[in-house]
Amino acid sequence: MTAMPAKPERKAAMRGGAITSTNFGLSGEHVALLDQMTRAARTEFAGDSERMDKDKWWPEDGFRRLAKLGILGASVPEEHGGAGLDLFSAGLIGQALGRVEASVATSWQSHDNLCVNNIYRNANEAQRRKYLPGLCDGTKVGAIGMTEPTGGSDALGGMKATARREGDHYVLNGTKIYITNGPIADVVLVYAKTAPERGNKGISAFIVEKDFPGYSRSAPFDKMGIRGSPTGQLFFDDCRVPAANLVGAENGGVAVMMSGLDIERAFASMSVLGIAERALELSVDYAKTRQQFGKPIGEFQMVQAKLAEMYVELEAAKLLCYRALAECNDLAEGEGGRGDIHMLTAAAFMKAGETCMRITDEAVQIFGGAGYMRDIEVNRLYRAAKIQEIGGGTKEIRRVIIAKELLRR
Ligand SMILES: Cc1cc2nc3c(=O)[nH]c(=O)nc-3n(C[C@H](O)[C@H](O)[C@H](O)COP(=O)(O)OP(=O)(O)OC[C@H]3O[C@@H](n4cnc5c(N)ncnc54)[C@H](O)[C@@H]3O)c2cc1C
Repeated sequence: MTAMPAKPERKAAMRGGAITSTNFGLSGEHVALLDQMTRAARTEFAGDSERMDKDKWWPEDGFRRLAKLGILGASVPEEHGGAGLDLFSAGLIGQALGRVEASVATSWQSHDNLCVNNIYRNANEAQRRKYLPGLCDGTKVGAIGMTEPTGGSDALGGMKATARREGDHYVLNGTKIYITNGPIADVVLVYAKTAPERGNKGISAFIVEKDFPGYSRSAPFDKMGIRGSPTGQLFFDDCRVPAANLVGAENGGVAVMMSGLDIERAFASMSVLGIAERALELSVDYAKTRQQFGKPIGEFQMVQAKLAEMYVELEAAKLLCYRALAECNDLAEGEGGRGDIHMLTAAAFMKAGETCMRITDEAVQIFGGAGYMRDIEVNRLYRAAKIQEIGGGTKEIRRVIIAKELLRR
C-alpha cells in the first residue's frame, strides 16, 4: 500500500504549505494529506495498540511499516531519500499519527524530526550521504540523546557527558536517560562536552552508531503511557566515535541544539493535537450511545457542556499550533532559539500539552467507570497525554521561556 499522495499531489500539498501566519486554516491539499495519512496509519497500526500498551511492545518491523507509508524523512529532500515535504505538511503527518496511535507518533517524530531532520539541517554532505538513506528507508532507527540523570530541564548546565579528542577519534563518557527509541536506535545524535570548562560554549554534537565500541543501552523503561514507544538509557564507556562524526563545529553543539528546539516544539505539538482530537471523537460517540436515565448521556446539558468546551479548547490550540509551525516553516537557516519564534513555539507546545491533558481527562470522565479501565482507548489517550506536559521541556519550562522573552523586551 502506498499511503503518501502521488508526487504531483505531494507537490500540491507542499504548495499548500504557502500557509502563513495570517492564514490560519488548512488548504484543501493539507486536509487531504491529513485525512489520507489518518486512514493509512489506521490500517497499518491500529490493530497493534492494545499489545503495545499491555506488553510495552514495539513491532520489530515498525519503522519498515512507516517507510511503507512513505513518511520517513518526511521533511528531507528526495535526493537524500526523504519524502520532500515541507515542515508544515510533515507536521500534519504527526497530527494524523497522534489520532491513531500515540506510541507510533512519538517514536516517529523522535526519529524523523529530532534525529533525521536535525542531521539533515546540521550535518555535512558526507554525513548526510552516509546516514540519511538508511534513516529514510526504514532500515535504521534514529534517536536524540540530550537528557542526562543530572540534566533534564537544565540540559546544558547539568550535562556531564564528555568527549575528548584522541587522534582521529573522540572518546565519549557519560549516560543519557529517557531517550525515545534509545533501546532500538541504530543511530543517535548525542550531545557531550568537549570543553567542560567553557560551559554551554563547550558542547558538541556527534552521530553515534549502535555498534561503536564502548556504547550500550538499557532495556525499555516501564512507562505510564506511550508504552509501545521504547524509552531507555544510553551508556558511553570510553566510546570511540570517529572524528568524522562530529556534527557542526567542535564546541558548536548549542547552535545545533538551539536551532532545532523551536522546530521540534512546534512539530511535536501536532501529534498532541491528534491525541486530543481522537479523545473528543470517542467522547462524542460515547455520549450518543451510552444510555442513562432512559436516554443517551449526550442529552444531559452537563455532558454537552463538556463536549462543547473540549471542542473550543481544541480549536484554539490548533490555531496556535498551526501558526507556530507555519512560522517555523519559513524560518531561515540558523534562525530560532531566541526572540518571537522561541516564545511562540513554547506557547504552542504549552497550549497543546495542557489542552490535550484537559480533553483526555474530560474524555475519561464522560466514559465514567469504563474510562478508568486501562485497556480502553480513552484511558490510553489520558496516559499518553501526561508526557505531553513533560517531554521536550516541561510545561513549567515552556512558561519560563515565554516569560523570559516577554521581560526581555
Ligand atoms: C517518555 C519520555 C521520552 C523522552 N524522550 C527524550 C529524548 O528522546 N531525548 C532526550 O534527550 N530527552 C528525552 N526525554 C527527557 C525529557 O525532555 C525530560 O524528562 C524533561 O525535559 C524534564 O527533565 P527531568 O525529567 O530531568 O525533570 P527535572 O528537570 O528534574 O524537573 C523536575 C520538575 O522541576 C520543574 N523545574 C525544573 N526547573 C525549573 C525551573 N527553572 N522553573 C520551574 N520549574 C522547574 C520541572 O518543570 C519539573 O516539574 C524524555 C522523557 C520522557 C519521560
